[in-house]
Amino acid sequence: MSRDPHCIFCKIVHGDIPSVSVLETDQAIAIMDVNPVVKGHILIIPRDHHSQVRDLPEELAAHLGSLVPRLTRAVVAAVGAEGSNLIINSGQVAGQTVDHCHWHIIPRFSDDPVDWPWPHEEYSGDEKAQMAFRITRELNGPAD
Ligand code: 5GP
Ligand code: ZN
Repeated sequence: MSRDPHCIFCKIVHGDIPSVSVLETDQAIAIMDVNPVVKGHILIIPRDHHSQVRDLPEELAAHLGSLVPRLTRAVVAAVGAEGSNLIINSGQVAGQTVDHCHWHIIPRFSDDPVDWPWPHEEYSGDEKAQMAFRITRELNGPAD
C-alpha cells in the first residue's frame, strides 16, 4: 500500500487523524468533508496515495466510479437535495488543496450559495478540430 507520511488523507485513511466515515471498502473510504461546500458534501478517497486522477490505476478509478451512483443517491436523499455535483480538482491551478486524489460529491439546492456554472469559451476556426487531433494523438501515443 502506498502511503505518504506527510499526507493528511493518508493519515485519515490509516486512522491517525479522525474522520466521519459513511462507507468503507477494501480500496477506498467515503467521509464527510470537514468544511462542506454544501452540508452533506462527502469525499471519496482511495486508500492508496496517488496525487492526481491522472495517476490512478484504471482499476482503482473504476472502483471509485462504481461507488458514485450509490453514494450520490444516499447524499441526495439524506439532505433532500435537488441535484449534486461530482467534482475532481486536479492540480493546484484547478483548486486541489490536498495532494491525494479524491472525488467530491456535493449536494445541490436551487438556492444554495454555490457560484455555478463555470464560464465557457468559444472556439474559432478549426481550433476545436486541432485540439481534438492533439488529444487523440496523446491518447494513441507519441508519433514515430
Ligand atoms: P480539494 O480542494 O483538494 O479538491 O479538496 C480538499 C477537501 O478536503 C476540501 O473540501 C476540504 O474541506 C477537505 N478537507 C481538508 N482537510 C480535511 C480533513 O482533515 N478532514 C476532512 N474530513 N476533510 C478535509
Ligand atoms: Zn495520501
